Amino acid sequence: MRQPIIAANWKMHKLNSEAVAFAESFLPLVQDSDAAEIVLAPPFTALSSLGSALAGSSVQLAAQNVYPEESGAFTAEISPPMLVDLGCRYTLVGHSERRALFGEQDDFIARKALALLEVGIRPIVCVGETLEEREAGRIEDVVGGQLQGSLASIPAGTTSEIVIAYEPVWAIGTGKTATPEMAQEVHGFIRKELSTRFGEGSEEIRIQYGGSVKPENIADLMDQPDIDGALVGGASLDPVSFAKVARLQRS
Ligand code: PEP
Repeated sequence: MRQPIIAANWKMHKLNSEAVAFAESFLPLVQDSDAAEIVLAPPFTALSSLGSALAGSSVQLAAQNVYPEESGAFTAEISPPMLVDLGCRYTLVGHSERRALFGEQDDFIARKALALLEVGIRPIVCVGETLEEREAGRIEDVVGGQLQGSLASIPAGTTSEIVIAYEPVWAIGTGKTATPEMAQEVHGFIRKELSTRFGEGSEEIRIQYGGSVKPENIADLMDQPDIDGALVGGASLDPVSFAKVARLQRS
């Protein structure tokens, strides 16, 4: 049985004071809920203050990115041990904005995922097709290729430690959500690919859906057999709205 996982991707939003204020409003709204494991990914600058504000709660801290080296001359980059030091349990890798705006490729994403696992941080590996690729009938080709490339170095036996986020690029920040059936179709394909790659262990891997998830659609998405949670951008910035999503509440 896979525990649902709901993660907030705050992207480049929230100052320290705003992150702490979010935690103060949010924690009372979810403290009696065990519907899902809850993860917050603030910008690097708010990891420390948000981590302190979350102390003693079951809400987990995540980073949005990492550089796959332990230390060294990599100006402005953040290493896996630095994220451990801040209390991160998860880290996003390969978000479509990193792929599209910063040219990140699967082999680099694979290095990040492995470097995180080596220090005990769980990577949330993001994949997803553009509208153009969907319309050209290339979903399996694109998502299958991203999975193969991004998971290339993941050792067998670590399947309970990795999370996949399927985020169709055309649904991110656009208000357009894939229908639960459209999402399930791709999640089913991802599950099959994972099974080829990892065998039985693939059943442990949680697959999140991402793309304009909000209180109005979370319950229907979660009804699908291969949707194990959500990666949430816009609707995660407001504590009330994100608490409804995290409680998997139908509204
Ligand atoms: C995201 O950034 O990962 C995301 C899914 O954003 P949104 O929920 O705003 O579409």
